[in-house]
Amino acid sequence: MTIQLPDNLDRNSCAALDARDPLAAFRDRFLDDGATIYLDGNSMGRLPKAAVSRLQEMAEHEWGTILVRGWTESGWMESPLRVGDSVAELIGASPGEVLVADTTSVGLFRLMTSVLRARPQRRVIVTERSNFPTDLYIASGVADLLGCEVRTVERAHLRDALDGDTALLVLTEVDFRTGERHDMGALTAAAHGVGALVLWDLSHSAGAVEIQLNHHGVDLAVGCGYKYLNGGPGSPAYLYVATALQDELRNPIQGWLGHDNPFLFDAEYRRGPGIRGWMSGSPPVLAIGALAVGVGIQLEAGAHAVGEKAAMLTEVFMRRAHARLDALGFEVATPGAPDRRGAQVSLRHPDGLAIVRAVADQGVIGDFRPPDLCRFGLAPLYTRFVDCWDAVERIAAVVESGANRLPHYREEVAIP
Ligand SMILES: *Cc1c(COP(=O)(O)O)cnc(C)c1O
Repeated sequence: MTIQLPDNLDRNSCAALDARDPLAAFRDRFLDDGATIYLDGNSMGRLPKAAVSRLQEMAEHEWGTILVRGWTESGWMESPLRVGDSVAELIGASPGEVLVADTTSVGLFRLMTSVLRARPQRRVIVTERSNFPTDLYIASGVADLLGCEVRTVERAHLRDALDGDTALLVLTEVDFRTGERHDMGALTAAAHGVGALVLWDLSHSAGAVEIQLNHHGVDLAVGCGYKYLNGGPGSPAYLYVATALQDELRNPIQGWLGHDNPFLFDAEYRRGPGIRGWMSGSPPVLAIGALAVGVGIQLEAGAHAVGEKAAMLTEVFMRRAHARLDALGFEVATPGAPDRRGAQVSLRHPDGLAIVRAVADQGVIGDFRPPDLCRFGLAPLYTRFVDCWDAVERIAAVVESGANRLPHYREEVAIP
Protein backbone atom coordinates (compact mmCIF):
# COMPACT_ATOMS: atom_id res chain seq x y z
CA MET A 1 0.00 0.00 0.00
CA THR A 2 1.44 3.38 -0.94
CA ILE A 3 -0.04 6.60 0.33
CA GLN A 4 -0.02 9.79 -1.70
CA LEU A 5 -0.05 12.91 0.42
CA PRO A 6 1.09 16.42 -0.49
CA ASP A 7 4.70 17.12 0.61
CA ASN A 8 3.77 20.34 2.33
CA LEU A 9 0.75 19.05 4.22
CA ASP A 10 -1.25 21.85 5.83
CA ARG A 11 -4.79 22.29 7.11
CA ASN A 12 -6.03 23.26 3.65
CA SER A 13 -4.67 20.12 2.10
CA CYS A 14 -6.41 18.13 4.86
CA ALA A 15 -9.65 19.88 3.93
CA ALA A 16 -8.95 18.98 0.28
CA LEU A 17 -8.52 15.33 1.27
CA ASP A 18 -11.90 15.50 3.01
CA ALA A 19 -13.49 17.08 -0.05
CA ARG A 20 -12.50 14.14 -2.24
CA ASP A 21 -12.94 11.43 0.40
CA PRO A 22 -15.35 8.82 -1.04
CA LEU A 23 -16.51 7.98 2.52
CA ALA A 24 -17.08 11.60 3.63
CA ALA A 25 -20.88 11.30 3.53
CA PHE A 26 -20.90 8.50 6.11
CA ARG A 27 -20.04 10.99 8.84
CA ASP A 28 -23.60 12.26 8.69
CA ARG A 29 -24.95 8.79 9.53
CA PHE A 30 -23.77 9.20 13.13
CA LEU A 31 -24.92 11.37 15.98
CA ASP A 32 -22.42 14.16 16.53
CA ASP A 33 -22.50 17.24 18.75
CA GLY A 34 -20.57 19.18 16.11
CA ALA A 35 -17.94 20.30 18.63
CA THR A 36 -16.10 17.22 19.84
CA ILE A 37 -13.30 15.55 17.91
CA TYR A 38 -14.11 12.01 18.96
CA LEU A 39 -11.03 9.80 18.64
CA ASP A 40 -12.16 6.96 20.87
CA GLY A 41 -14.18 4.91 18.41
CA ASN A 42 -11.68 2.09 19.01
CA SER A 43 -13.13 1.85 22.52
CA MET A 44 -16.80 2.79 22.00
CA GLY A 45 -18.07 3.62 18.54
CA ARG A 46 -20.47 6.48 17.82
CA LEU A 47 -24.24 6.02 17.69
CA PRO A 48 -25.62 5.49 14.16
CA LYS A 49 -28.72 7.69 13.77
CA ALA A 50 -30.58 4.77 12.16
CA ALA A 51 -30.00 2.67 15.29
CA VAL A 52 -32.20 5.08 17.26
CA SER A 53 -35.20 4.57 14.99
CA ARG A 54 -34.52 0.84 14.67
CA LEU A 55 -34.41 0.37 18.45
CA GLN A 56 -37.59 2.39 18.83
CA GLU A 57 -39.34 0.32 16.19
CA MET A 58 -38.16 -2.95 17.72
CA ALA A 59 -39.35 -1.89 21.15
CA GLU A 60 -42.70 -0.41 20.20
CA HIS A 61 -43.72 -2.56 17.31
CA GLU A 62 -41.97 -5.91 17.70
CA TRP A 63 -41.74 -6.25 21.47
CA GLY A 64 -44.72 -4.01 22.21
CA THR A 65 -47.30 -5.54 19.90
CA ILE A 66 -45.99 -8.70 18.23
CA LEU A 67 -44.72 -10.08 21.54
CA VAL A 68 -43.93 -13.79 21.56
CA ARG A 69 -44.64 -14.22 17.85
CA GLY A 70 -41.63 -11.94 17.27
CA TRP A 71 -39.33 -14.95 17.62
CA THR A 72 -40.53 -16.11 14.22
CA GLU A 73 -42.46 -13.21 12.63
CA SER A 74 -39.82 -10.57 13.38
CA GLY A 75 -36.92 -12.94 12.78
CA TRP A 76 -35.59 -12.70 16.33
CA MET A 77 -34.52 -16.34 16.50
CA GLU A 78 -32.50 -16.16 13.29
CA SER A 79 -30.96 -12.77 14.06
CA PRO A 80 -27.62 -14.12 15.42
CA LEU A 81 -27.17 -16.05 12.16
CA ARG A 82 -28.48 -13.31 9.89
CA VAL A 83 -26.30 -10.58 11.38
CA GLY A 84 -23.51 -13.16 11.61
CA ASP A 85 -23.67 -13.51 7.83
CA SER A 86 -23.32 -9.72 7.48
CA VAL A 87 -20.28 -9.74 9.75
CA ALA A 88 -18.93 -12.65 7.68
CA GLU A 89 -19.13 -10.53 4.54
CA LEU A 90 -17.26 -7.74 6.31
CA ILE A 91 -14.38 -9.96 7.48
CA GLY A 92 -13.88 -12.07 4.36
CA ALA A 93 -15.70 -15.16 5.65
CA SER A 94 -18.50 -17.18 4.05
CA PRO A 95 -22.19 -17.35 4.94
CA GLY A 96 -22.77 -19.80 7.79
CA GLU A 97 -19.35 -19.24 9.38
CA VAL A 98 -20.13 -16.41 11.81
CA LEU A 99 -22.49 -16.23 14.77
CA VAL A 100 -23.33 -13.13 16.80
CA ALA A 101 -23.21 -14.16 20.45
CA ASP A 102 -22.09 -13.35 23.96
CA THR A 103 -19.00 -11.24 24.56
CA THR A 104 -15.58 -11.58 23.00
CA SER A 105 -14.35 -13.08 26.27
CA VAL A 106 -16.99 -15.82 26.22
CA GLY A 107 -16.34 -16.50 22.53
CA LEU A 108 -12.64 -16.91 23.28
CA PHE A 109 -13.46 -19.36 26.05
CA ARG A 110 -15.78 -21.41 23.90
CA LEU A 111 -13.41 -21.62 20.92
CA MET A 112 -10.26 -22.34 22.95
CA THR A 113 -12.05 -25.03 24.92
CA SER A 114 -13.42 -26.66 21.80
CA VAL A 115 -9.97 -26.89 20.21
CA LEU A 116 -8.28 -28.39 23.28
CA ARG A 117 -11.00 -30.98 23.62
CA ALA A 118 -10.82 -31.89 19.94
CA ARG A 119 -7.02 -32.24 19.91
CA PRO A 120 -6.17 -34.07 23.16
CA GLN A 121 -2.68 -35.02 21.96
CA ARG A 122 -1.70 -31.31 21.82
CA ARG A 123 -1.61 -29.48 25.16
CA VAL A 124 -0.29 -25.97 24.49
CA ILE A 125 -1.89 -22.62 23.66
CA VAL A 126 0.65 -20.14 22.28
CA THR A 127 0.00 -16.43 22.64
CA GLU A 128 1.91 -13.18 23.07
CA ARG A 129 2.61 -11.30 26.24
CA SER A 130 1.18 -8.01 24.96
CA ASN A 131 -2.12 -9.61 23.95
CA PHE A 132 -5.29 -8.01 25.31
CA PRO A 133 -5.68 -9.04 28.96
CA THR A 134 -9.00 -10.83 28.52
CA ASP A 135 -7.42 -13.09 25.89
CA LEU A 136 -4.62 -13.95 28.33
CA TYR A 137 -6.95 -14.44 31.29
CA ILE A 138 -9.31 -16.69 29.33
CA ALA A 139 -6.40 -18.75 27.99
CA SER A 140 -5.02 -19.31 31.47
CA GLY A 141 -8.48 -20.17 32.80
CA VAL A 142 -9.01 -22.70 30.00
CA ALA A 143 -5.57 -24.18 30.71
CA ASP A 144 -6.45 -24.59 34.41
CA LEU A 145 -9.77 -26.15 33.56
CA LEU A 146 -8.47 -28.61 30.99
CA GLY A 147 -5.01 -29.24 32.42
CA CYS A 148 -2.91 -27.75 29.66
CA GLU A 149 -0.31 -25.03 29.27
CA VAL A 150 -0.26 -21.45 27.99
CA ARG A 151 3.04 -20.52 26.38
CA THR A 152 3.16 -16.71 26.50
CA VAL A 153 6.04 -15.19 24.54
CA GLU A 154 7.21 -11.86 23.17
CA ARG A 155 5.95 -10.97 19.72
CA ALA A 156 9.35 -11.59 18.12
CA HIS A 157 9.44 -15.17 19.42
CA LEU A 158 5.98 -16.32 18.33
CA ARG A 159 7.15 -18.51 15.47
CA ASP A 160 9.83 -20.19 17.60
CA ALA A 161 7.21 -20.98 20.24
CA LEU A 162 5.12 -23.06 17.82
CA ASP A 163 5.80 -26.81 17.86
CA GLY A 164 4.20 -30.23 17.68
CA ASP A 165 2.59 -29.76 21.11
CA THR A 166 0.80 -26.60 20.02
CA ALA A 167 -2.94 -26.97 19.70
CA LEU A 168 -3.74 -23.32 19.11
CA LEU A 169 -2.10 -19.98 18.37
CA VAL A 170 -4.19 -17.13 19.83
CA LEU A 171 -3.44 -13.60 18.67
CA THR A 172 -5.10 -10.20 18.43
CA GLU A 173 -4.51 -8.92 14.92
CA VAL A 174 -4.28 -5.21 15.78
CA ASP A 175 -2.59 -4.50 19.11
CA PHE A 176 -4.83 -2.44 21.39
CA ARG A 177 -1.93 -0.49 22.83
CA THR A 178 0.18 0.45 19.81
CA GLY A 179 -2.09 -0.26 16.85
CA GLU A 180 0.57 -2.61 15.41
CA ARG A 181 -0.96 -5.13 13.03
CA HIS A 182 0.24 -8.71 12.69
CA ASP A 183 0.79 -10.40 9.35
CA MET A 184 -2.30 -12.62 9.51
CA GLY A 185 -1.39 -14.67 6.45
CA ALA A 186 2.17 -15.45 7.55
CA LEU A 187 1.30 -16.31 11.15
CA THR A 188 -1.67 -18.44 10.13
CA ALA A 189 0.62 -20.35 7.77
CA ALA A 190 3.24 -20.74 10.53
CA ALA A 191 0.65 -22.25 12.89
CA HIS A 192 -0.61 -24.58 10.18
CA GLY A 193 3.01 -25.53 9.43
CA VAL A 194 3.24 -27.24 12.85
CA GLY A 195 -0.26 -28.67 12.62
CA ALA A 196 -1.81 -26.13 15.01
CA LEU A 197 -4.98 -24.11 14.57
CA VAL A 198 -5.13 -20.32 14.83
CA LEU A 199 -7.63 -18.04 16.58
CA TRP A 200 -7.58 -14.35 15.69
CA ASP A 201 -9.17 -11.67 17.85
CA LEU A 202 -10.46 -9.02 15.44
CA SER A 203 -11.73 -6.54 18.04
CA HIS A 204 -9.52 -3.74 16.67
CA SER A 205 -9.64 -4.94 13.07
CA ALA A 206 -13.22 -5.32 11.83
CA GLY A 207 -14.52 -1.96 10.67
CA ALA A 208 -11.01 -0.51 10.74
CA VAL A 209 -8.99 -2.51 8.22
CA GLU A 210 -9.79 -4.99 5.47
CA ILE A 211 -9.73 -8.60 6.69
CA GLN A 212 -9.70 -11.76 4.56
CA LEU A 213 -10.27 -14.75 6.83
CA ASN A 214 -11.08 -17.28 4.11
CA HIS A 215 -8.27 -16.08 1.87
CA HIS A 216 -5.72 -16.70 4.63
CA GLY A 217 -7.28 -20.02 5.65
CA VAL A 218 -8.01 -18.76 9.16
CA ASP A 219 -9.56 -21.40 11.42
CA LEU A 220 -11.22 -19.39 14.17
CA ALA A 221 -11.87 -15.77 15.08
CA VAL A 222 -13.73 -13.56 17.51
CA GLY A 223 -14.35 -9.83 17.70
CA CYS A 224 -16.41 -7.28 19.52
CA GLY A 225 -19.39 -5.25 18.34
CA TYR A 226 -19.10 -1.98 20.22
CA LYS A 227 -15.84 -0.59 18.81
CA TYR A 228 -15.53 0.09 15.07
CA LEU A 229 -18.78 -1.75 14.34
CA ASN A 230 -20.69 0.87 16.35
CA GLY A 231 -23.07 -1.62 17.96
CA GLY A 232 -23.34 0.37 21.20
CA PRO A 233 -22.75 -0.43 24.86
CA GLY A 234 -23.47 -4.07 25.61
CA SER A 235 -23.31 -4.96 21.94
CA PRO A 236 -22.77 -8.68 21.49
CA ALA A 237 -19.59 -10.06 19.98
CA TYR A 238 -19.22 -12.55 17.13
CA LEU A 239 -17.38 -15.79 16.60
CA TYR A 240 -16.17 -17.39 13.38
CA VAL A 241 -15.62 -21.11 12.82
CA ALA A 242 -14.28 -22.06 9.37
CA THR A 243 -16.62 -24.44 7.54
CA ALA A 244 -13.91 -27.12 7.39
CA LEU A 245 -13.83 -27.31 11.21
CA GLN A 246 -17.52 -27.19 11.92
CA ASP A 247 -17.93 -30.96 12.19
CA GLU A 248 -14.85 -31.46 14.32
CA LEU A 249 -15.22 -28.65 16.87
CA ARG A 250 -18.05 -28.68 19.36
CA ASN A 251 -19.63 -25.88 21.33
CA PRO A 252 -18.75 -26.56 24.99
CA ILE A 253 -21.90 -24.76 26.17
CA GLN A 254 -24.55 -27.13 24.89
CA GLY A 255 -27.61 -24.97 25.37
CA TRP A 256 -31.07 -25.60 24.06
CA LEU A 257 -30.88 -23.19 21.13
CA GLY A 258 -27.85 -25.01 19.74
CA HIS A 259 -29.93 -28.19 19.62
CA ASP A 260 -30.89 -29.57 16.26
CA ASN A 261 -34.56 -29.00 17.10
CA PRO A 262 -34.96 -26.96 20.30
CA PHE A 263 -38.73 -27.06 20.25
CA LEU A 264 -38.90 -30.82 20.57
CA PHE A 265 -37.70 -30.18 24.14
CA ASP A 266 -35.77 -33.43 23.91
CA ALA A 267 -33.94 -34.68 27.02
CA GLU A 268 -30.86 -35.57 24.93
CA TYR A 269 -28.65 -32.93 23.33
CA ARG A 270 -28.23 -33.35 19.59
CA ARG A 271 -26.22 -30.49 18.16
CA GLY A 272 -27.62 -28.30 15.43
CA PRO A 273 -25.88 -28.10 12.05
CA GLY A 274 -22.95 -25.79 11.34
CA ILE A 275 -22.64 -22.46 13.10
CA ARG A 276 -26.18 -22.84 14.49
CA GLY A 277 -24.76 -25.45 16.85
CA TRP A 278 -22.78 -22.63 18.47
CA MET A 279 -25.93 -21.00 19.76
CA SER A 280 -26.44 -21.63 23.47
CA GLY A 281 -29.28 -19.61 24.99
CA SER A 282 -31.67 -16.87 23.90
CA PRO A 283 -30.00 -14.14 21.84
CA PRO A 284 -29.96 -10.46 22.96
CA VAL A 285 -32.40 -9.44 20.24
CA LEU A 286 -32.52 -5.67 20.80
CA ALA A 287 -28.75 -5.39 21.01
CA ILE A 288 -28.37 -7.49 17.87
CA GLY A 289 -30.82 -5.11 16.16
CA ALA A 290 -28.58 -2.17 16.99
CA LEU A 291 -25.46 -4.03 15.89
CA ALA A 292 -27.11 -4.89 12.58
CA VAL A 293 -27.39 -1.18 11.82
CA GLY A 294 -23.69 -0.58 12.52
CA VAL A 295 -22.59 -3.57 10.46
CA GLY A 296 -24.90 -2.56 7.62
CA ILE A 297 -23.25 0.87 7.41
CA GLN A 298 -19.81 -0.76 7.32
CA LEU A 299 -20.91 -3.00 4.44
CA GLU A 300 -22.28 -0.03 2.53
CA ALA A 301 -18.95 1.74 2.90
CA GLY A 302 -17.00 -1.40 2.00
CA ALA A 303 -14.12 -2.90 3.97
CA HIS A 304 -11.56 -2.05 1.30
CA ALA A 305 -12.45 1.65 1.21
CA VAL A 306 -12.56 1.75 5.01
CA GLY A 307 -9.08 0.21 5.24
CA GLU A 308 -7.68 2.63 2.65
CA LYS A 309 -9.05 5.60 4.55
CA ALA A 310 -7.69 4.26 7.86
CA ALA A 311 -4.24 4.08 6.31
CA MET A 312 -4.48 7.68 5.11
CA LEU A 313 -5.92 9.09 8.33
CA THR A 314 -3.21 7.43 10.42
CA GLU A 315 -0.57 8.64 7.95
CA VAL A 316 -1.77 12.24 8.24
CA PHE A 317 -1.96 12.03 12.03
CA MET A 318 1.49 10.45 12.34
CA ARG A 319 3.09 12.90 9.95
CA ARG A 320 1.70 15.81 11.92
CA ALA A 321 2.66 14.14 15.19
CA HIS A 322 6.26 13.87 14.03
CA ALA A 323 6.29 17.47 12.83
CA ARG A 324 4.60 18.99 15.85
CA LEU A 325 4.99 16.63 18.81
CA ASP A 326 8.41 14.92 18.54
CA ALA A 327 10.02 18.03 20.01
CA LEU A 328 7.52 18.08 22.89
CA GLY A 329 8.58 14.72 24.29
CA PHE A 330 6.20 12.46 22.37
CA GLU A 331 7.19 9.31 20.57
CA VAL A 332 4.99 7.71 17.91
CA ALA A 333 4.44 4.08 18.97
CA THR A 334 2.44 3.03 15.90
CA PRO A 335 4.28 1.42 12.94
CA GLY A 336 5.15 3.62 9.97
CA ALA A 337 4.24 0.99 7.35
CA PRO A 338 0.53 1.44 6.55
CA ASP A 339 -0.18 -2.29 6.20
CA ARG A 340 1.38 -2.95 9.61
CA ARG A 341 -1.08 -0.81 11.57
CA GLY A 342 -4.80 -0.53 12.30
CA ALA A 343 -6.88 2.66 12.48
CA GLN A 344 -5.32 4.10 15.64
CA VAL A 345 -2.26 6.16 16.47
CA SER A 346 -0.60 5.81 19.85
CA LEU A 347 1.83 8.34 21.25
CA ARG A 348 4.13 7.67 24.17
CA HIS A 349 4.66 10.47 26.66
CA PRO A 350 5.76 10.21 30.31
CA ASP A 351 2.89 12.54 31.27
CA GLY A 352 0.39 10.78 28.98
CA LEU A 353 -2.50 10.44 31.42
CA ALA A 354 -2.61 14.13 32.35
CA ILE A 355 -2.20 15.08 28.71
CA VAL A 356 -5.13 12.90 27.59
CA ARG A 357 -7.29 14.47 30.31
CA ALA A 358 -6.26 18.02 29.45
CA VAL A 359 -6.77 17.40 25.73
CA ALA A 360 -10.29 16.04 26.45
CA ASP A 361 -11.13 19.43 28.01
CA GLN A 362 -10.08 20.95 24.69
CA GLY A 363 -12.66 18.82 22.89
CA VAL A 364 -10.43 15.98 21.68
CA ILE A 365 -11.45 12.63 23.15
CA GLY A 366 -8.75 9.97 23.14
CA ASP A 367 -7.77 7.61 25.92
CA PHE A 368 -4.78 6.45 27.93
CA ARG A 369 -3.27 3.02 28.41
CA PRO A 370 -0.59 2.49 31.05
CA PRO A 371 2.22 3.10 31.39
CA ASP A 372 2.55 5.99 28.94
CA LEU A 373 0.35 5.57 25.86
CA CYS A 374 -2.04 8.21 24.56
CA ARG A 375 -4.35 6.43 22.10
CA PHE A 376 -6.25 8.12 19.30
CA GLY A 377 -8.68 5.98 17.31
CA LEU A 378 -9.36 7.33 13.83
CA ALA A 379 -12.60 5.52 12.97
CA PRO A 380 -12.75 5.89 9.18
CA LEU A 381 -16.53 6.33 8.90
CA TYR A 382 -16.73 9.53 10.90
CA THR A 383 -13.23 10.95 11.30
CA ARG A 384 -12.09 13.70 8.94
CA PHE A 385 -8.57 14.58 7.85
CA VAL A 386 -8.98 18.05 9.38
CA ASP A 387 -9.83 16.32 12.68
CA CYS A 388 -6.38 14.70 12.61
CA TRP A 389 -4.77 18.06 11.96
CA ASP A 390 -6.76 19.87 14.66
CA ALA A 391 -6.27 17.11 17.23
CA VAL A 392 -2.48 17.24 16.90
CA GLU A 393 -2.58 21.04 17.16
CA ARG A 394 -4.60 20.84 20.38
CA ILE A 395 -2.32 18.21 21.87
CA ALA A 396 0.64 20.45 21.09
CA ALA A 397 -1.13 23.49 22.57
CA VAL A 398 -1.85 21.64 25.81
CA VAL A 399 1.79 20.70 26.32
CA GLU A 400 3.13 24.07 25.16
CA SER A 401 0.85 25.91 27.59
CA GLY A 402 1.61 23.50 30.43
CA ALA A 403 -2.12 22.77 30.91
CA ASN A 404 -1.31 19.13 31.65
CA ARG A 405 0.53 20.28 34.79
CA LEU A 406 -2.67 21.60 36.42
CA PRO A 407 -3.29 19.64 39.63
CA HIS A 408 -6.75 18.38 38.73
CA TYR A 409 -5.39 16.48 35.73
CA ARG A 410 -2.96 14.69 38.02
CA GLU A 411 -5.38 13.31 40.58
CA GLU A 412 -5.63 9.57 41.02
CA VAL A 413 -8.96 8.50 39.61
CA ALA A 414 -10.07 5.29 38.00
CA ILE A 415 -9.23 5.20 34.31
CA PRO A 416 -12.33 4.45 32.22
C1 LIG B 1 -12.20 -4.79 23.38
C2 LIG B 1 -11.56 -6.11 23.29
C3 LIG B 1 -12.17 -7.23 23.81
C4 LIG B 1 -13.48 -7.09 24.50
O1 LIG B 1 -13.92 -8.23 25.13
P1 LIG B 1 -15.42 -8.31 25.66
O2 LIG B 1 -15.44 -9.59 26.36
O3 LIG B 1 -16.31 -8.28 24.44
O4 LIG B 1 -15.66 -7.13 26.55
C5 LIG B 1 -11.55 -8.46 23.64
N1 LIG B 1 -10.37 -8.55 23.00
C6 LIG B 1 -9.75 -7.47 22.49
C7 LIG B 1 -8.48 -7.63 21.75
C8 LIG B 1 -10.32 -6.22 22.63
O5 LIG B 1 -9.70 -5.15 22.15
